[in-house]
Amino acid sequence: MNIPFNQPYVVGTEGAYIAEAMAARKLAGDGSFTRRSQALLEAHLGSGRALLTTSCTDALEAAALLCDLKQGDEVIVPSYTFVSTANAFALRGATIRFADSEADNPNMSAQSVADLVNERTRVIVPVHYAGVACDMGALQAQADRVGALIVEDAAQAIASSYKGKPLGTIGSLAAFSFHETKNIIAGEGGALHVNDTELVSAAEIVREKGTNRSAFFRGQVDKYNWVSLGSSYLPSELIAAFLTAQLEALDSIQARRLAVWNRYSHRLSHLVERNDCSLPVVPDYATNNAHMFYIVCSTLEVRTRLITHLKANKIQAVFHYQALHASPYYVARNNLVDLPNATRFTDGLVRLPLFADMDIDMADRVADAVCEFFG
Ligand SMILES: *Cc1c(COP(=O)(O)O)cnc(C)c1O
Repeated sequence: MNIPFNQPYVVGTEGAYIAEAMAARKLAGDGSFTRRSQALLEAHLGSGRALLTTSCTDALEAAALLCDLKQGDEVIVPSYTFVSTANAFALRGATIRFADSEADNPNMSAQSVADLVNERTRVIVPVHYAGVACDMGALQAQADRVGALIVEDAAQAIASSYKGKPLGTIGSLAAFSFHETKNIIAGEGGALHVNDTELVSAAEIVREKGTNRSAFFRGQVDKYNWVSLGSSYLPSELIAAFLTAQLEALDSIQARRLAVWNRYSHRLSHLVERNDCSLPVVPDYATNNAHMFYIVCSTLEVRTRLITHLKANKIQAVFHYQALHASPYYVARNNLVDLPNATRFTDGLVRLPLFADMDIDMADRVADAVCEFFG
């Protein structure tokens, strides 16, 4: 039997909730399921205001609008990330500066950020790779040096924390993803999480096409108007209904994913002795939300052979980002930069299958094949 890299998990209550939304004849955004899922997310995170969006990309674009960037403003993002982390800010005309990864994990290195921070730096965007926290204390200190904002790309980071504080509640703004490859899914979907209370009403406006429609529906103004730049970032109630079912099942989904992750870790821990691969590192200040289990091969050649070996065993393992500092779009417009750690993860990192209804036997089959490869 084939083991896919990912299989979107369905809790079972999604269909009934979607039927409920249809029966209520309320299908556009900001209805009762949107409010329910926002309340579930807010309760889970414990602070801040959650606003559902159509994707994490859209949440990042909304965040970039809220940062009110001007030409020449600089935004520091990791090179080893999904394109949207950088693209959202590039769309606003910001100059993107790429930070390197840490030596032992793909997160942005605080030292690399320190080397880039200057008086033009307006935003720092930590990406909590694999749901493992960036070194937020060190990054906050860099942001404070020049009065920059922190926007967390928390796409992979639900149910994880930094020194006990939930990821997505640390920066002024944060973006979550509910894409079908994440822990909690809605097919496509996301959330903008607003921690700076002074940005809440501006965030509502940006998400509602630049109008004060939300204030109008609360009866705070007697007509709604175009009051700022904005776009349409809100999902329909059908998406929110699906998401409500998933968020209600957050604890059981997490328990299932952690069981698979812990099995991999148990079965593969001896690989740390080797010099042709390494395993995920979770620093003391971080937790693991079982978003991903990866192996970092020492070379592209080793990784290609490993992926081929797993494929021969009917197991789909996949590599991840192509570092953005070497992307065609960036290279055509900027001077070459050398970010050796980001390049190492580009060439060496491979992700093993991990999804909520994967059973331990499947995890063992994957682990057996990995162990056989490394001998
Ligand atoms: C998945 C992901 C995104 C994009 O999320 P969408 O909801 O698909 O737009 C952005 N950043 C990171 C780090 C991601 O993993």
